[in-house]
Amino acid sequence: MLKKIVINSLTIKIIMNRVRTRFAPSPTGIMHIGNVRAALLNYLFAAQNNGIFILRIEDTDQQRNIDQGTQFIIKHLNWLGLMFQEGPNIGGAYAPYFQSQRSDIYKKYLQKLHSKNLAYQCFCTPEELETRKNRQIVMKKPPRYEGTCLKISQAQIAQNIAQGKSFIWRMKIDSNKKVQFKDMARGTLEFDLQHFSDFPLTREDGSFTFIFANCVDDCEMAISHVFRGEEHLSNTVSQTVLYHAFDYPLPTFWHLPILCNQDGKKLSKRDRGFSLEDVQNQGYLPEAICNYLGILGCSFEKEIMSLEEMSKIYRFDNLHGASQIRYDIEKLKWLNHKWIADYNIKKLTQLCKPFLATTYNIASVSDQALAKLIKSIQTDMQTLTQVTELLKFYFVRPHINTSIYNDTADQTTFIKIKKILLESKHEDWTTFINTAKAKTLALGIENKILFATIRIFITGSAKGMQVQDLFTDLGNKEFFERIENA
Ligand code: GLU
Repeated sequence: MLKKIVINSLTIKIIMNRVRTRFAPSPTGIMHIGNVRAALLNYLFAAQNNGIFILRIEDTDQQRNIDQGTQFIIKHLNWLGLMFQEGPNIGGAYAPYFQSQRSDIYKKYLQKLHSKNLAYQCFCTPEELETRKNRQIVMKKPPRYEGTCLKISQAQIAQNIAQGKSFIWRMKIDSNKKVQFKDMARGTLEFDLQHFSDFPLTREDGSFTFIFANCVDDCEMAISHVFRGEEHLSNTVSQTVLYHAFDYPLPTFWHLPILCNQDGKKLSKRDRGFSLEDVQNQGYLPEAICNYLGILGCSFEKEIMSLEEMSKIYRFDNLHGASQIRYDIEKLKWLNHKWIADYNIKKLTQLCKPFLATTYNIASVSDQALAKLIKSIQTDMQTLTQVTELLKFYFVRPHINTSIYNDTADQTTFIKIKKILLESKHEDWTTFINTAKAKTLALGIENKILFATIRIFITGSAKGMQVQDLFTDLGNKEFFERIENA
């Protein structure tokens, strides 16, 4: 691959072999789950090959950008643990990493094409292009630019410019040629350029198009491998023409299959879990999301894997080129459950807090007490959202309905137990429980019934947490008040 080195202020490029991948989102404010997968695979491939993972912000289309878009992307990548080694906030040898700050570089490349007679100005208006396209469709011809402005003279161009007519730059392609590029899942692909048009390099407002800027940056940033969505396949054909025109070696591509919902349709905004934010709000851990998107469409003996484990065992040479992959929220939930069960309790507590705060006032509960509470229900949670229901007993006094009593014991037993519990009241757990056990056993009431009853009094349910945990978590004051009210 290419590397830039600077000697006496002259930038020259040398061939090197370092793997360099990049994630190149537009700051549109939404991180689609398919984008996350692209970021993940670029990250894993770089990690596996001791390479560099880069974040580049593709913000040339001002209409699509949102103000906080980049911060949003960085926040998400950090949350997922997909750390990049070069990018907007950290810089790097190939800065700047915002396309909006790279116009001078694009101008140089455009000039290069122009001087090779490979780019030309096109004065056709959007209306004219639209009319011609509709005509081609009616005539059952593939809608393509017909090269109208390729035929105009230098004098005409000068006149158009003098008249202030707006124009775009187009790439001239040789329709007699074929181009090839390597796709990791599909092998070498060949395309006949007679099926492609002279594509735009700039927009009417003078900004550079995705196809052009993206390719120039991949050349300039010495990108060796590009993992991106399959929707870019035809762009790759156009970009191959550009790579050849710039005399740059092509990177290796992997066009990732489209993620579909359970009905086999492309995952859209209507689908649950369309964006990373949706998935986050539904209470999924970053590790589970990466794990799921990593193993999706592949088969591994071991399914639960961290980023580090995945980067070690991921088989990039064994990928298949399916055109669709089902996004299966149930599988994600299963992985999430497994991850939660083994998660570091401090970290889990921090992640659960925002969910609890939506329903309860948690300000007065210490992190330590929360961690203890969460530990007691850790293995029951499939998603973090469930923490509110599972810890309801702590924040809300139970409403006990009689059917719960009936399965445990008869009413007189309850009355007896309640009386004993209140007589045994003590701020020390061991003293309290030993007294209560001795008194109930003397009446022939088994410990099992005693504990189930305490749980009912405290939480409204016979099953659940350890009674001792309830005592310590709630504090003895609240604990005995609940018994009194039962
Ligand atoms: N900005 C493009 C996108 O978000 C980048 C595609 C690519 O990775 O080349 O789809």
